[in-house]
Amino acid sequence: MTYKATAHRPPSGWGDDLTTINTNGATHIEDTNGDFWEISTINRKSVSINQANVPNKTRVTSTQLASFGTMATTPNHTERAHALLSASGAHRWLHCTPSPHLEARYPDTSSDAADQGTAAHELAEYKLRNLLGENPTRPHSHWIDEEMEDHTDNYADHVTAELARTQKDSPAAFCSIEERLDFSHIVPDGFGTGDAIIVGDNTMTIVDFKYGKGVKVKAENNPQMSLYALGALAAYGMIYNIQQVRMVIFQPRIDNISVWETTPEHLYDWAKEVVEPQARLAEAGEGQLTAGDWCTFCKHAPQCPALATQYLNPIPTTEDNTPTAPDPDTLTDQQISQIITHSKDLKKWLTKVEEHALTQAQQGRRYPGLKVVEGRSVRRYADEAAVAEAVEATGNDPWQRKVLGITAMTKLLGKKQFEELLGAHIIKPEGAPTLVPVSDKRPELTVATPDNVFQPIEQGA
Ligand code: SF4
Repeated sequence: MTYKATAHRPPSGWGDDLTTINTNGATHIEDTNGDFWEISTINRKSVSINQANVPNKTRVTSTQLASFGTMATTPNHTERAHALLSASGAHRWLHCTPSPHLEARYPDTSSDAADQGTAAHELAEYKLRNLLGENPTRPHSHWIDEEMEDHTDNYADHVTAELARTQKDSPAAFCSIEERLDFSHIVPDGFGTGDAIIVGDNTMTIVDFKYGKGVKVKAENNPQMSLYALGALAAYGMIYNIQQVRMVIFQPRIDNISVWETTPEHLYDWAKEVVEPQARLAEAGEGQLTAGDWCTFCKHAPQCPALATQYLNPIPTTEDNTPTAPDPDTLTDQQISQIITHSKDLKKWLTKVEEHALTQAQQGRRYPGLKVVEGRSVRRYADEAAVAEAVEATGNDPWQRKVLGITAMTKLLGKKQFEELLGAHIIKPEGAPTLVPVSDKRPELTVATPDNVFQPIEQGA
């Protein structure tokens, strides 16, 4: 989205009462620092803003206001169109071919993480274009902070280093930024947008910038990257002698730079043997519902019978199929192993199902045996400033001072200063023992048992 102001601050100021201003239905304001905020409510002296991610900033006063505005709809990172069989969803539809049609029933939703990722991509694109000598316009977003500035600087540096590396062997190599990559010759209507494609003779490099930090993304056999590569090969393979395809996932918030090198032939074989047959099934909405790690972000997950079966199978039930919660001592080792293996995803899935059902119920859907009631509520202050004032007037101190946590402190100081100033004060205590699947990368702990704690007494000792 781009910001479009509709009512500018008059030279004499906004006057005494903001509620009398005609904002022309504005959804956002711009403050005097040039930052944009979504309007929550407007009162006489200030605008309260909708920014859950900026806890210390809840309102913009009339003297900090520059303009009211609305968000204009110009296509950008947020609004990249999605095909039914998207590259970003390929991991899912390659494994579970009915999923795209099932997901298409649900509306697109946004989240803070997605909005933050969009802002990071726009800033990263701006910085890369800048480094490559273009004259781009710097994007604005309230999500931009010091951490994002650092990571996007590093991304732009990384891509230019990749370009320099390619230009050593192929001086005419170039970098294409935010290029639409068409792979519709393999997947119906298939296209995606490559963050940075470096094309030279011999090697083509594709860099994908990931700002998320919840899931570590690997480049090796990554279907999204491979489809982008096939799109790029279709565009450049006839002009350049590409022998090697290098794919780079740049995921700075968890220090993950994952690289995979393969050949165009390997990708062509994969496209023919795996992608094309699965895409045909997925386009028709055919095939088996197949649950696995690709279900995590599937919109159909709360209602999916395959996923429910996977999660609920190990849970004992009564004769009428009601899940029970027996004493863990009565479960078999097999049941315990299955429950623990899926417990994290199972908890997340249960929450998703509850949220989904509540949304539906609030829209009038009735579920057998369920009803909507008012939840438990806790007391809170209506106006914290008024409370503090009243308590201070009694001579008491209403404030509690606390050192910021590590994340907030890192944000305050920046990563570099945090390390220099506080590195020696940071400790990392041993983690508590956790039971995880054997596929987990962490080394197994040696558990104290009578066999390894007690030494046998030697004869005659
Ligand atoms: S939740 Fe269901 S529909 Fe979605 S990917 Fe998993 S198995 Fe397929």
